[in-house]
Amino acid sequence: MPERLQNYINGSWAPSSATESLNVINPASAAVLAEVPLSPAAEVAKAVDAASAAFVTWRRTPAGERIQPLFKLKMLLEENIDSLARTITNECGKTLGEATGEMRRAIENVEMACGIPSLMQGRNNEDIAPGIDEHMIRQPLGVVAAITPFNFPGMIPFWFLPYAVATGNCFILKPSERVPVTSARMFELLEKAGFPKGVLQMVHGGRDTVNALLDHPEVRAISFVGSTATARYIYSRASANGKRAQCQGGAKNPVVIMPDADMDMTTRILADSAFGCAGQRCLAASVAITVGDARGPLTDQMAAIAQNRKVGYGLDSGVEMGPVISAESKSRIESLIAKGEHEGARVLVDGRNRTVSGYHDGYFVFPTILDAVPPTSEIAGTEIFGPVLSLMHASTIDEAIALVNARAYGNMACIFTTDGANARRFRYEVSAGNVGINVGVAAPMAYFPFSGWGESFFGDLHAQADHGVEFYTQTKVIVERWPRDWSRKF
Ligand code: NAD
Repeated sequence: MPERLQNYINGSWAPSSATESLNVINPASAAVLAEVPLSPAAEVAKAVDAASAAFVTWRRTPAGERIQPLFKLKMLLEENIDSLARTITNECGKTLGEATGEMRRAIENVEMACGIPSLMQGRNNEDIAPGIDEHMIRQPLGVVAAITPFNFPGMIPFWFLPYAVATGNCFILKPSERVPVTSARMFELLEKAGFPKGVLQMVHGGRDTVNALLDHPEVRAISFVGSTATARYIYSRASANGKRAQCQGGAKNPVVIMPDADMDMTTRILADSAFGCAGQRCLAASVAITVGDARGPLTDQMAAIAQNRKVGYGLDSGVEMGPVISAESKSRIESLIAKGEHEGARVLVDGRNRTVSGYHDGYFVFPTILDAVPPTSEIAGTEIFGPVLSLMHASTIDEAIALVNARAYGNMACIFTTDGANARRFRYEVSAGNVGINVGVAAPMAYFPFSGWGESFFGDLHAQADHGVEFYTQTKVIVERWPRDWSRKF
């Protein structure tokens, strides 16, 4: 029997009373790994009650004490990085190297949040008028929640959790129901890290569980990462209910290749960006726009790299790319490739209908390249979220920048060039919140905000760094006069 996952509420593991559940599947083998309950609203309410009760003491705990469990957590994550990465590979499909890299990014955010005593400092002015001082301090909000996607089960919860609790809030995670085992293993470590009970909760589930969080009056802020349709919905419902919301959505990331680019380096980096994590990365390069003479060499070299990429089970040695998350995802990606062909693109490398020896039931789509995708086609603006790179061709950098800025999404845009003036112009003019210059995955480190724009983000304060601190705190301004001091004569 597969393990039935439990919720974590008020410092204890709590079996869910849910009557509905889903199987968690290893996408490389289709083996059932666990069963995840779709928790009802009553269990969300219990989690919120526990968090509200814990908040009374937690917010009074000095910041320097609140970060002590985070230091311990950092060590626990380091000690368990290999087993966590293996869990990620098994339920999410990415390679062990990719999963380990993901956990490093999670740990960076824990390290960053250990600086909260200085990061959440306020500011003040003496004598805004004679004898009157003014101070601004930051206070936590109360109960906050995060709803996370399937593609980074180890990292994305840590874009939020460490900042939320270090600033004095109590936190509820609703992990993706497709990859909940990683969160279960992480909560076993969080339990050992020594947070007081009620500071951290995890409730498994799907839409109804999310809606219960969005509608609960005591949940003060919602952090979300997932597809644009869900992000827009969550942002609307959370804000209509008076909550703060930061909702990161989907993407379709363009990369411009200038004729002066170092083509060997560019194609290697571009392939890692487009096909790494099987393209299931919100910062994956999904459209490569060549300028002028870059077209021929880029097309030829990318085709060769795509054809030679080793696809398989992410724990097997030498594997460079794993499966996509589910059978539905595989068939959606394959039908989008067909749609691209129908709309006039040429399938230069076709990753459909391929199998991996020993893993015939796995959800594999091999690297695919669609060439000469018409800029006005629907596929040109659709997030495929699989290992599919579209090629478009422009004559000038102006044309390429216009193609970049024609998209609705604004998660990332990159340029490959050896010309500084082109690079500067690109970073100045493109509509994207994360920009790469000779970099294929412009993922901000924990000490920078993850700055999606356009349809890739709903809200104003992004995840990570100072944005995280600001999102999870409210400012209080105090104007202060002390009569005896004020009447002193100088
Ligand atoms: P998803 O939107 O299907 O699900 C994300 C979360 O929302 C899950 O926890 C799920 O249970 C919940 N959810 C889904 N539908 C819901 C509904 N109708 N009502 C309430 N809750 C709902 O996303 P996914 O498929 O898990 O993740 C992939 C997507 O996430 C891609 O679009 C990708 O680009 C995006 N993503 C974005 C970023 C970013 O930083 N912008 C990072 C990672 C992933």
